[in-house]
Amino acid sequence: MTESTKSDDPLRTREAVCILHDDRDAEESCERCGDFICKECIQDLFSRQVCPNCHKNYGGKLLSDFQASLWGKRDVYVWLIGGFGSLLCLTQALVCFAMTIQNLSGANTPLGVPEALALALFLSLALVITSAYFLLKKWARKALFLIPLTGFFLAVVQVSDLANAVAAACLIVPLPVVFLLSAFTNPQNRLAFRIEVSRDELESLFEVKKSNRAAHNALALSLVAFILPPLLFLSLYLALRGRKNCDPEAWPPVGGMKPAQNALILTTLGFLLWTVILLFGGMS
Ligand SMILES: [Zn+2]
Ligand SMILES: [Zn+2]
Repeated sequence: MTESTKSDDPLRTREAVCILHDDRDAEESCERCGDFICKECIQDLFSRQVCPNCHKNYGGKLLSDFQASLWGKRDVYVWLIGGFGSLLCLTQALVCFAMTIQNLSGANTPLGVPEALALALFLSLALVITSAYFLLKKWARKALFLIPLTGFFLAVVQVSDLANAVAAACLIVPLPVVFLLSAFTNPQNRLAFRIEVSRDELESLFEVKKSNRAAHNALALSLVAFILPPLLFLSLYLALRGRKNCDPEAWPPVGGMKPAQNALILTTLGFLLWTVILLFGGMS
């Protein structure tokens, strides 16, 4: 009796059904622990299919804690645009208002009354938007785009001919808009404004901020190092450390091989470039 139970069905049936639902057929095995799971039990964790237990114990909580740590917290974009930007708008708006008043009372100023007033009002609008951005008001994220647009119209009104207007547009619009778009789409920035991000975005953000920070910092540094060569040594160190950190088998997996490799290539190029510059500099 016991012999037969051991030898045939139990082992086979136990393997074929879900670990959590013994009335359901297993569809997959968990990519971490190997347990059999049914279709409804499959969960996604760091781009792998795992069982609910592994999801809970190996990363699920880690990610939700990580998300909570960034929820409603000002990121670098908020400090730059909302903090620094609003201070800049405030001081410049005051200067323009002062200029308007001085001009009205007969003093000679670089700008005439209509120009100074228009600029002061434009800067006041920018001040309202950037302050709201600093206070993490959701509407301010979109309203930010009004600043380069209004600036552009202001410039077009001031210049008379088309060629100058086109030049003004090319000068005023692209860079700020690209910068604002990079802030708008940034997952950490969205978390700062309490906007949900996708699971994939959260996982890659986790890699950038937590699991392999060295690799991503190395990449950023290797770019700056083209202008500031002493940083080449630091970016080389971080790139090597970032490469060593990589462990796709770990739980949660540590990625970042690509940025670490790219940082290494850029750092090597930086060393070559500066060697050439120093050599030629020494000869002349
Ligand atoms: Zn599992
Ligand atoms: Zn199940």
